[in-house]
Amino acid sequence: MTSFPIHAGSPVSFPGPPPKAADVVVIGGGVVGVTAALFLARRGLRVVLVEKGRIAGEQSSRNWGWIRQQGRDPDELPIMIESRRLWQQLAAETGEDIGLVEAGVTYLATTERKLAAFEAWLPHARAHGLDTRILDAAATAVLIPGASRRFSGALTTPSDMKAEPWCAVPALARLAAREGVSVIESCAARLIDTAAGRVAGVLTEAGRIAAPAVLVAGGAWSSLLLRAHGIAIPQLSVRSTVAATEPLARVHAGAAADDRIAFRLRRDGGFTLAGAGAQDFYLGPDAVRLASKYLPTLRSEPLSVRPRPAAPHHFPDAWGTRRHWQGDEESPFERMRVLDPAPNPGNIARLARNFADLFPRLGPVRLRTCWAGMIDTMPDVVPIIDHCDRLPGLTIGTGLSGHGFGIGPGVGRVLADLIAGGELGHDLTRFRFGRFSDGSRIRPGPAL
Ligand SMILES: Cc1cc2nc3c(=O)[nH]c(=O)nc-3n(C[C@H](O)[C@H](O)[C@H](O)COP(=O)(O)OP(=O)(O)OC[C@H]3O[C@@H](n4cnc5c(N)ncnc54)[C@H](O)[C@@H]3O)c2cc1C
Repeated sequence: MTSFPIHAGSPVSFPGPPPKAADVVVIGGGVVGVTAALFLARRGLRVVLVEKGRIAGEQSSRNWGWIRQQGRDPDELPIMIESRRLWQQLAAETGEDIGLVEAGVTYLATTERKLAAFEAWLPHARAHGLDTRILDAAATAVLIPGASRRFSGALTTPSDMKAEPWCAVPALARLAAREGVSVIESCAARLIDTAAGRVAGVLTEAGRIAAPAVLVAGGAWSSLLLRAHGIAIPQLSVRSTVAATEPLARVHAGAAADDRIAFRLRRDGGFTLAGAGAQDFYLGPDAVRLASKYLPTLRSEPLSVRPRPAAPHHFPDAWGTRRHWQGDEESPFERMRVLDPAPNPGNIARLARNFADLFPRLGPVRLRTCWAGMIDTMPDVVPIIDHCDRLPGLTIGTGLSGHGFGIGPGVGRVLADLIAGGELGHDLTRFRFGRFSDGSRIRPGPAL
């Protein structure tokens, strides 16, 4: 099997050193940080983006590549609709083929009950004029021909899209760099520098960058960095395993999932497979401390995670990971340049088997590669997109909860205007920083 394309040994495309000063420092080179940096530069600001490992080395390259409006939290939908438009615009502006195709997303129902749950989401689609619709069993069999299972029906959105994550986000970073963003890889932000109770810059492993504004878009590491400043967010991560097949007959052109397998046709003719088996949930200090906040979500999907006693060394919530350090000493971010978890072997075997079982005419399904990613999440399964009132100058864009690739450019645009004082265009109340501490009830988004 080939190895995953972006890892700690990949060549550095954006070397330092970073500039000594900026208007905004963006911490994290995933889809959120990269697109926020791009839009900040378009607002005329001097932007430095620091990435501890490689651009898109973590979630933003390891995801399934689904760009879906379907099944979203109603408060995310307006941003997602904008994001879909931005993907089209940005893909053209990169001048590169990022595999962006409007091929639809489909959820396959194996029971009438599941179909009814899908149907309950339709009013949100109608409210925003989406082309989402319910298919009956016969129409589902036409959309997914050759399936061995008989589905009760499906929820489908033909205007949903897909792209190739490990090409897309690096292409967006190249676009941002062309538009003036100083992108620096292999450069960990150790701490946020403060003076007189507000942000004064960032202390990186390559020196201090003076700046009045900082955006934390650190994916699964955001909580660790923020806690070093006494700022608590209830973020945890789960390990999710993915596999890529060799090229196969084209059983479906878009992305689809049933209760055993999720599949998406890639540009190279293979399928990206996931979803067979639960995600692994490592118990660590944060997991224990935050368990009660996650109970409502866990109750609604008790079989979706499998607890494990401890994360591997140097993971964000491993027992031995340091929680306190100084700006002039090595931080946990340098100990783990690219969070590259080993895939779960049991899940991999099931993925190939379940896909072959669903489409018997494919014959044996051979895997080209497999990988895993740590999905960062919030208890209510929606992100934080807000200024942090505890530290003026700090903005947080994190906790995209397993569906941030699709909405990433929309979130990046909103964050840029939040920082630059532009028109937000959306109601961000649901995504406020203070919702976990102001006595609000935790209201999980739809688990569709
Ligand atoms: C297996 C899997 C499947 C998924 N499938 C989908 C899908 O199909 N569709 C979808 O919409 N979403 C999907 N997602 C979710 C999506 O990938 C994420 O929500 C999204 O990529 C998050 O982007 P991000 O920029 O917030 O974080 P990341 O992509 O994780 O980027 C954060 C970056 O910050 C860097 N960083 C952290 N701390 C520091 C520091 N102190 N200094 C410097 N750099 C730092 C990290 O190295 C990392 O590169 C999936 C995720 C996974 C793992």
